[in-house]
Amino acid sequence: MLQIRELVASVEGKQILNGLSLDIKPGEVHAIMGPNGAGKSTLGNVLTGREGYEVISGEVLFNGEDMLALDIEERARAGLFLAFQYPVEIPGVSNMEFLKAAVDARRSHMKQEELSSFDFMKLAREASKKVSLDAAFLKRGVNEGFSGGEKKRNEILQMMMLEPSLCVLDETDSGLDIDALQVVADGVNAMRDSERSFIVVTHYQRLLDYIIPDYVHVLANGRIVKSGDKELARELEAKGYGWLEGEVA
Ligand code: ADP
Ligand code: MG
Ligand code: MG
Repeated sequence: MLQIRELVASVEGKQILNGLSLDIKPGEVHAIMGPNGAGKSTLGNVLTGREGYEVISGEVLFNGEDMLALDIEERARAGLFLAFQYPVEIPGVSNMEFLKAAVDARRSHMKQEELSSFDFMKLAREASKKVSLDAAFLKRGVNEGFSGGEKKRNEILQMMMLEPSLCVLDETDSGLDIDALQVVADGVNAMRDSERSFIVVTHYQRLLDYIIPDYVHVLANGRIVKSGDKELARELEAKGYGWLEGEVA
């Protein structure tokens, strides 16, 4: 599904990713951990095609297609979803309008019929119930005045509605109370299937008690320096990153 080969990328003229390779098959959940400033968020931003992130060399294939040739909207339509570390507010555009446009674009890409307003609202209400977000939030401006927990619930709601094939969750657990963390984990687990893959970036092993990853990777100095399974996350929680210093350096 996703093949990242020797990816080198920079931000503001500073090289951050230094030859990162990662292979993700359909249905897999990959956790990415690593020290602050290692390049985890940069990886997410490069994958979505965010402005200011320059790819210097390497390649990214998404379902066999050169993903780096697609713009942000094309990547979203093709099924890539990035839950931002700091979700943006879009005052003046209701959550519902925003979602409807995104869902229409995604369905059109999948050659599915456009949902009627009635069916869309029905799905949106069901999804908001699943993430324990009052349906009144659908009428409010995107993330406008939402608390941290409400933004995260809203992100999971967006993810459920869009049915992406690859979801990137960047530090979705930071600043979340245990109930909101459970909502995020339940949302991800409910969406796990043999076709859909996830990249879960997290600082804490705790989230991985709820979302059991197939693989855990350590990203340091812009590269994957170690890979393992969920036991690696426990080891990191106990020992920190220092013991990897040889590999980190
Ligand atoms: P992580 O998510 O692993 O903590 P980041 O990818 O956010 O790390 O950051 C990696 C490095 O890139 C840091 O040194 C950070 O300061 C730098 N960086 C990231 N984004 C920008 C940006 N927009 N402008 C300048 N430097 C950036
Ligand atoms: Mg960080
Ligand atoms: Mg980060």
